[in-house]
Amino acid sequence: MDCLFCKIVSGDIPSTKVYEDDKVLAFKDINPLAPVHILVIPKEHIDSAAAVTAENSAVIAHIFEVIAKIAKEQGIDKDGFRVVSNCGENGCQSVKHLHFHILGGRKLDVTMG
Ligand code: AMP
Ligand code: ZN
Repeated sequence: MDCLFCKIVSGDIPSTKVYEDDKVLAFKDINPLAPVHILVIPKEHIDSAAAVTAENSAVIAHIFEVIAKIAKEQGIDKDGFRVVSNCGENGCQSVKHLHFHILGGRKLDVTMG
């Protein structure tokens, strides 16, 4: 499958990794919108939040454990941060592999779009 984030998982495209285990990869966003901007993805290809099912949802719980761990490591857990998953056309999802943005390190805009 011609998927940018699958190529990052396989190592065909380089990334700045901040966390990796057998199910999940986290790396720095190439175009950071905040002092901390990290993407957390399942290694298994899932199209988007709209494609989560009873069969593949276990990794989502794991991703949120990883998000909490990364937030602590990055020192943004106390001040707070935002987790965003854009989905589909109206959600402005540009990469069609489920991912969670972690944004922090500054006071974020209150707007949700
Ligand atoms: P979204 O618009 O929610 O689909 O988010 C996709 C994100 O992937 C954007 O914030 C991009 O800056 C980021 N991105 C695109 N290509 C790369 C890459 N090669 N390495 C790291 N982040 C990337
Ligand atoms: Zn993929």
